[in-house]
Amino acid sequence: MNILVKNIKMLMGGEIAEGDICISGDTIAAAGTLPKEFTAEKIIDGSGKLAIPGLINCHAHSYMSLFRNLADDLTFEDWLFGSIMPREDSLSPEDAYWGAMLSCTEMIKSGTVCFMDMHMFPNKCAEAASTLGMRAVMTRGLTGPDRTEKDALRRFNEHMQEREQWADDPLISFKLGPHAIYTCGRDYLEFLIEKAKETNQEFHIHLSETLNEVKNCYKEQGKSPVEYLNDMGFFNVKTAAAHCVHLSDHDMDILAEKNVSVIHNPKSNLKLANGISPIPRLLEKGVNVCMGTDSQASNNTLNMFSEMNFAALLHKGTTGIPTVCAAREVLDFATVNAAKALGFEKTGAIAAGNKADICILDLDRPEFYPRNDLAAALVYSANGSEVDTVIINGEIVLEKGRLTKFDEEEIYAKARQVAERF
Ligand SMILES: [Zn+2]
Repeated sequence: MNILVKNIKMLMGGEIAEGDICISGDTIAAAGTLPKEFTAEKIIDGSGKLAIPGLINCHAHSYMSLFRNLADDLTFEDWLFGSIMPREDSLSPEDAYWGAMLSCTEMIKSGTVCFMDMHMFPNKCAEAASTLGMRAVMTRGLTGPDRTEKDALRRFNEHMQEREQWADDPLISFKLGPHAIYTCGRDYLEFLIEKAKETNQEFHIHLSETLNEVKNCYKEQGKSPVEYLNDMGFFNVKTAAAHCVHLSDHDMDILAEKNVSVIHNPKSNLKLANGISPIPRLLEKGVNVCMGTDSQASNNTLNMFSEMNFAALLHKGTTGIPTVCAAREVLDFATVNAAKALGFEKTGAIAAGNKADICILDLDRPEFYPRNDLAAALVYSANGSEVDTVIINGEIVLEKGRLTKFDEEEIYAKARQVAERF
């Protein structure tokens, strides 16, 4: 289908332009001026609205929406090992599907078009994303001591099967997801490095999230988690690492040199009292910084507007420098930098030739008046409730604030029903 968005303000390269956006199939055919020959089956009136590149959430656990507000105000260890993991063990694939449906609904309604997930049931989450029309990168959470252990191997094989199963889908792709250095043994990690190289796959991992992880790594390996992975050749595979809270100067140099993308999850790190990632220093060193929400069990929303707001404020407070993490830089975390981290270079910006992944906000809201600087307003004033229309891969998945492909009330009812068991 061809879609024409007429007379709309649009965020392009950090500045606000005005004109038309022409969408042809899954691609932005033109942005700014309307080509003479363009005809559209669907016309969206863009007056009073702002189009921005759809936001990209690089780290989530979508089934965990079911655990929202079930385990708040606990230590990281009590939260993960005492509360979350035992509940995960009792989840059925069907439960995970409805959890992921709820998460995808929450993301679409707050302007997110694409997410990277770490999941026990990636197939079910891929199904949810596909049902609602979201772009998604699935990573099966891989854990185990070594390559010969039955469950470790089973998890890897499941990942490979599911990756194969979705190979031709335009929206769903897969990366290898070793969960963390404290849940994967060295031999298992080395096995995954070999497999990643053999089959041309990338990594998504939790890294240097807690002080305990770092302390234990020094005790057991005599080096930091970043050094440990680097020395075994892990970063020779393209990697997006979530958290990276506790880093030495040497760690940061390694991440920069190896082109590791750091996925900043400021709210989750604060809520679990894990600390604050040194984002301004990572940026100084040239590291590609993107953003994620982590799960609703440690955030407790998947709202990227809220996450951007936190990132912009937090580092000003910790550094005492009000110019760090400026609004436009933080917008890049959630768009172009994220696209780079995921290897989706044709997303993350409104530009001719890019995929049509666009979020349209209603500007007729008090938080958008007066119109002094709309790019800054997205980070400092918006809250995500202004999202009116979302287009993913050229398809309208949200219109006038409502999902177009599934009944929202049914999703809420099913999620409540499943969550009652917990
Ligand atoms: Zn996580």
